[in-house]
Amino acid sequence: MTDTLAPSPISCDLDFERDGARHGFLRLPWSRDDSAWGAVMIPICVIRNGDGPTALLTGGNHGDEYEGPIALYDLAATLDPARISGRIIILPTMNAPAFRAGTRTSPIDGGNLNRSFPGRPDGTPTQKIADYVTRHLLPLADCVLDFHSGGKTLDFLPLAACHILPDKALEARCRAAVEAFGAPYALQMVEMDAVGMFDTTAEAMGKTFVTTELGGAGTASPHSIAVAKRGVRGFLAQAGILTGDEAPSDPAAGPTTWLDMPDGDCFLVSEEEGLIEPLVTLGDAVARGDVVARIHPFGRTGRAPLPCHARRSGIVMARHVPGLVKPGDCIAVFAVPVP
Ligand code: CA
Repeated sequence: MTDTLAPSPISCDLDFERDGARHGFLRLPWSRDDSAWGAVMIPICVIRNGDGPTALLTGGNHGDEYEGPIALYDLAATLDPARISGRIIILPTMNAPAFRAGTRTSPIDGGNLNRSFPGRPDGTPTQKIADYVTRHLLPLADCVLDFHSGGKTLDFLPLAACHILPDKALEARCRAAVEAFGAPYALQMVEMDAVGMFDTTAEAMGKTFVTTELGGAGTASPHSIAVAKRGVRGFLAQAGILTGDEAPSDPAAGPTTWLDMPDGDCFLVSEEEGLIEPLVTLGDAVARGDVVARIHPFGRTGRAPLPCHARRSGIVMARHVPGLVKPGDCIAVFAVPVP
């Protein structure tokens, strides 16, 4: 697959094979008006102690999601290499230009990193990041934890997720890693739009892969951050990398409720433009046909709001954040708790 591709233009001067904690950068050349021979600097940390499995931990795949970057900068700054067996590679802000701009996609090229995999060494800056991760970091990894949350336009119940996969042994490993993350909710998904995702590339390479949706609304909360920090330690402990006092004790995590998204009726999409009045919030139970939001036309007064009906029964797993909606915006996502 990779033999015919050109070398990556991205360089990294960290030694991935030496013991200890090291902090550096992936340097992506980016010649531009304000910096002729400039580069995009993507922070990376490698922590190694002897032989053992390798975990790749990533945040900032989308630039407006914050629990992952907070938990991963914290981990990189505080984890004592003596407390691990194996290696941890941390990219807290994988799409660094998007993270710096506080946007989902890159301000350089408009690239959505999570639709750019496996990437191209001769493509856009976003495609070059994806290519480097695919060809230089994923081959080192046994397991991958890619943090997401809802960004500026969605807010989620805190959940960790894995996919339904053709390789059932890999699927079972991913499920066990989700359990170890210990979020209040967990989800096994069929991806509607899997082409270009980091998940798809990593799973095709046989890597245990866990993703998350931990809140959103363009910020992070003490609760969602606590879930992220506890989750990454649970993930590393289950992988056999984190041991002793650093591994979370199981009572620290509450029970996890598994959710299912049985069909496309889980998604409630707006057909109108207007001012949204939510009538339910995250975690609420709804029945099929319930009015879950009203959309007020705001062009003039005196018009009735338009009711939005749940298309299936379930609980509110995600909700639209901005006060205005447009046709095609996701108003809410409903999921069904698995007994
Ligand atoms: Ca995301």
